[in-house]
Amino acid sequence: MIALETHSAEETGGFGIIMGNLLQAGDVITLNGDLGAGKTCLAAGVARGLGITERVTSPTFTLINEYDGHLPLYHLDVYRLANPEELEDLGYEEYFYGSGVTVIEWARQVEQYLPDERLDIYIEKQTGDDNYRVLKLMPQGSRYNKLVKELIHHVCAGN
Ligand code: ADP
Ligand code: MG
Repeated sequence: MIALETHSAEETGGFGIIMGNLLQAGDVITLNGDLGAGKTCLAAGVARGLGITERVTSPTFTLINEYDGHLPLYHLDVYRLANPEELEDLGYEEYFYGSGVTVIEWARQVEQYLPDERLDIYIEKQTGDDNYRVLKLMPQGSRYNKLVKELIHHVCAGN
């Protein structure tokens, strides 16, 4: 597990941009954390990094938003699913095992459908500072171990 700190929404978005630059077809990123943690903020950064210029909005009510960048981006938010099985109606396999990048908010709610190999990110707030977040990166599988190494390298290099 690797933990990163951010001190503003811009910084979290900037981390998302770096990540978006490094993502490949088929990558799956899960975002977990309370309401207002910064999941959508991070997803919007990923979209920028993938060259998407469209405004990225929360898919809380739509469940999924698709964008066209260097790769397709599937931005899911499963907060409002009454039960995980509803993901099947959404045709989730096309996203998780497709040729785009999947970013999924509240992913833990659909744990049983997630691919074994993925990057899990937990965003934690702390009482006292509204702008401070800890991003915990937990890669599952060799592709994501490598991705996290590259991410850290770019974050440290300041680009
Ligand atoms: P979520 O999708 O997890 O519910 P959002 O990304 O929609 O959260 O909202 C995060 C809110 O927290 C935004 O209003 C953002 O400006 C604010 N914020 C403050 N500090 C940070 C930070 N370090 N990282 C991300 N968001 C932050
Ligand atoms: Mg959100």
